[in-house]
Amino acid sequence: MAEIMVLGAGMVGVSTALALQARGHHVTIIERGTPGRETSYGNAGLIQTEAVEPYAMPLAPGALMQIALGRGYDVKWTPSGLLSQLGAVFNYALNSLPAAHKRASVTWGKLIRQSTERHGPLIEAAGADNIIRRNGYIELHRTPAKMEKARKTADRFLTEFGVAARLIDGRELRVLEPSIRVEVAGATHWSDSWNCSDPGGLVAAYAALFQKRGGRVVNADAGDLHRKGAAWMVDEAEAEHAVIALGPWSPMMTERFGLKVPMVYKRGYHRHYHMDAPPHHPIADFGNSVVLSPMRRGLRIATAAELTPHPRLTPPQLKHGEKAARELFEIGAPVEAEPWTGRRPCMPDMLPVVGRVPDQPNLWAHFGHGHQGFTLGPVTAEILADEISGGKGWDALQPSRLKR
Ligand SMILES: Cc1cc2nc3c(=O)[nH]c(=O)nc-3n(C[C@H](O)[C@H](O)[C@H](O)COP(=O)(O)OP(=O)(O)OC[C@H]3O[C@@H](n4cnc5c(N)ncnc54)[C@H](O)[C@@H]3O)c2cc1C
Repeated sequence: MAEIMVLGAGMVGVSTALALQARGHHVTIIERGTPGRETSYGNAGLIQTEAVEPYAMPLAPGALMQIALGRGYDVKWTPSGLLSQLGAVFNYALNSLPAAHKRASVTWGKLIRQSTERHGPLIEAAGADNIIRRNGYIELHRTPAKMEKARKTADRFLTEFGVAARLIDGRELRVLEPSIRVEVAGATHWSDSWNCSDPGGLVAAYAALFQKRGGRVVNADAGDLHRKGAAWMVDEAEAEHAVIALGPWSPMMTERFGLKVPMVYKRGYHRHYHMDAPPHHPIADFGNSVVLSPMRRGLRIATAAELTPHPRLTPPQLKHGEKAARELFEIGAPVEAEPWTGRRPCMPDMLPVVGRVPDQPNLWAHFGHGHQGFTLGPVTAEILADEISGGKGWDALQPSRLKR
């Protein structure tokens, strides 16, 4: 049994703390704000079992041209946003080539497939069932050509990964989601995945469970992390081990301890809108680069990737997403005065960083979950907690790969 401090109380940090606590360790979380109020607050709320391949950069010549010219809404960028992370973005592109992407998918698929079985017991113990739906999500296909492509993807995912999906035509979709008011060719119902109507609330419920089980949450700046003899200190807190789970803020911390992390920061936005008859499932409208999730606060429109150091006042992806949402549904005014924004912590090789920080006794890394950290927090938490408790960890996720 050891004293361990976990830096950061997003989905990844709080899940780590719970997994370590379950193995009998004494755990303290260090968080400068409130648990679950940063990236883990702002996502689309999907707990995905179907996302068996990490999110590759679109590399088809037409798609690249669209991105370069600033057309389309999947990826937007500004010169300073791109230049500040050029090396990492270039490597992300290389790793999006078919052979490398397939390699990453072998590990990624194994992680993703465990997501609901890892979240399940935590949701139950945290009493958070009221914010979880186990009815999957719906991916729209507006044209017959898109529908055909989706059929092939669903067949491949079933054969290669055992993922279940239901392909439905426009008529079936209208029965499932009567609030959709346009004709589309059909949809994929990814029926095994779950979704959450209050992602920040789920992290807060997990944090409350951690405290109920005897864990401590200390409000402090993790930037103070330093050694005192063999121990780690932050403020008054002292521990034998420290885990860096600071999401997109992690590279700043690891660099101080000799590990340079080339992260790709994919900014996303969301905003809620009043809606009298919300859909029963989250609706992914990837043709318009948005996910529309029914949340407690209203319909949340969440955008794709933007490579920008600072948020925009009127993000074009959100404006476009709102237009697409208004075509699909009868929606009302925005709930908030301004959109929320945050950055997905993405690694160029598309795999999270989970394990021992090289050359730093008892310092551990746990970050870089990209597009699926809300889903994967409790999965990689188990892997790291096992390793800290004397297990082997997963080779493909080790921080030492960044030193090669
Ligand atoms: C628009 C959008 C949609 C998304 N949709 C989904 C989805 O549907 N499903 C999914 O699985 N994932 C989704 N994601 C990705 C997911 O949200 C992230 O991968 C995940 O939240 C990362 O969690 P984290 O715990 O690593 O980081 P965070 O949630 O950011 O947590 C890091 C914590 O560290 C704290 N911290 C930072 N610096 C300090 C410091 N100096 N001292 C103390 N504390 C500090 C922060 O306050 C924060 O609480 C989406 C992301 C975005 C942006």
